[in-house]
Amino acid sequence: MENYSADVVVVGCGIAGLSAAMTAAEHGARVAILERAPFDERGGNTRYTESFWRMKSETAVSDDFEERFAANAGGYPDPGILQDAVRDWDNQPAVLRSLGMVDPGFVATLAEEAPKALGWLKSFGVKFDFLPLYFLSQSTTRMGPIGGGLALVEALAGAAEKLSEQITFYYETAARDLITDDSGRICGIKAIGKGNRPIHFHGQAVVLASGGFEGNPEMLSHYVGAQAQFIRPVARGGHYNRGEGIRMALAAGAAPCGDFGSFHAQPVDPRAADWEPVVLNYSYGLLVNRNGRRFTDEGPAMVDATYEAVTREIMAQPEGLAFAVFDAGLDDVDNWQATVRSRVPPHEAASLAELAALMGVDGDQLAATVAAFNAACPSAADFDPMQPDGLATVDLEPRKSNWARPLVQPPFRAWPMICSNCFTFGGVKVDYNARVINAEGDAIPGLYAAGEVVGLYYRTYTGATSVMRGAVTGRLAGADAARQGNAPN
Ligand SMILES: Cc1cc2nc3c(=O)[nH]c(=O)nc-3n(C[C@H](O)[C@H](O)[C@H](O)COP(=O)(O)OP(=O)(O)OC[C@H]3O[C@@H](n4cnc5c(N)ncnc54)[C@H](O)[C@@H]3O)c2cc1C
Repeated sequence: MENYSADVVVVGCGIAGLSAAMTAAEHGARVAILERAPFDERGGNTRYTESFWRMKSETAVSDDFEERFAANAGGYPDPGILQDAVRDWDNQPAVLRSLGMVDPGFVATLAEEAPKALGWLKSFGVKFDFLPLYFLSQSTTRMGPIGGGLALVEALAGAAEKLSEQITFYYETAARDLITDDSGRICGIKAIGKGNRPIHFHGQAVVLASGGFEGNPEMLSHYVGAQAQFIRPVARGGHYNRGEGIRMALAAGAAPCGDFGSFHAQPVDPRAADWEPVVLNYSYGLLVNRNGRRFTDEGPAMVDATYEAVTREIMAQPEGLAFAVFDAGLDDVDNWQATVRSRVPPHEAASLAELAALMGVDGDQLAATVAAFNAACPSAADFDPMQPDGLATVDLEPRKSNWARPLVQPPFRAWPMICSNCFTFGGVKVDYNARVINAEGDAIPGLYAAGEVVGLYYRTYTGATSVMRGAVTGRLAGADAARQGNAPN
């Protein structure tokens, strides 16, 4: 058996784990970082993200930040319990502290700490700006680091490597269980190295920053349901996130938080091998399932605010498959190519019948669907792809609320689409220092969670806040864990 010790043991090498590790080191702690992936693939989801932050400047989150979190809270929380949320954390009843919910105090902490985290990341040489993304126009403000999440991983990991006296990386090392001492304090991690070799890491505190369970089909089927077989992680990094951090914490008595049955859904081309091969032009055309039938409103509002709900509808279709169908009118949209990141060309044909054959869809049904849609389109021609233009179908179910124009002009094109899983929502409850809270509303001594392990989202993702969550909770966890590590006990 191999044994190693440090003050703080960090599981995961994405934005959350690296933020925790570097912050703990800045506070004087010795740190061990466990990473399941090999060196070349370190960094989990963070490695592949463009890493947009919901900010209006480097010093302030977007104007709609708190409002969107409140709107996306989901469910019908008990107002009799929520009324105590106005109290500070220590004076809240245990039943509230352990409640799975979008905690307004936590959202306020996120909003307050995000600019500080951004400034801290800049100190490692990362530059932020308002960068182009795959939405032609947006309903909020987003900034991102130049070079995306990979730049964050390289900057933080590079800085950590320079502190080799203090920080040690253990690649291809997967955490499996927590070690608890007789007082109930978490004091280490049981892991395995290559060849199923057992390794124990001992420390005064453990930070679980090992992502969600998007790479674990068993947990996905358990929590999301049978359609989970048709979804896949949106990028390679997600395959490394198999939920052990969440499982370990729950087994230690952590209170669950976040929507376990849900995840951040993105519409992608199933044929594409690239990461995040999104197909986000569909609001200018039609969505049909493999039976050739429409099933949802393709244009309820701006696509950046509605694609998640539409993607869930795609997941619910037979075999979790849909097609975005267009005529030549797609080319009226300037720069529509920016909204499709799949590099596999669409099916293209001179007639709908030929297109249906390429799609593997019944031609008569597709023709009937398009004919019914065309007949329901308004005659007005005030098409405006940059904002909801009110061109809605009439007497058609489901309605298309905007950008409804008949599909008549060849060539006809279709992209296949499935629902992909960016990251899962279910995690554990933490306080405002990222300490894991148990079902009794108390902090579990020595145990911290950061990033996707922290349950925050319900129903709909408040976009461009997950990397921010990782950096903020990582920094909070690292600072507090280092203080524990230096404590006399
Ligand atoms: C393509 C893409 C685009 C995205 N775009 C955005 C965006 O624009 N804005 C935004 O805010 N969010 C975005 N996200 C989501 C965001 O990137 C992630 O939610 C965030 O980076 C997660 O950070 P993390 O540190 O919690 O997890 P990760 O970055 O996934 O890191 C988890 C780490 O833990 C390791 N690990 C897992 N299990 C174990 C184990 N048992 N033992 C040891 N190590 C383990 C993994 O290998 C990995 O290194 C995007 C994600 C993707 C994939």
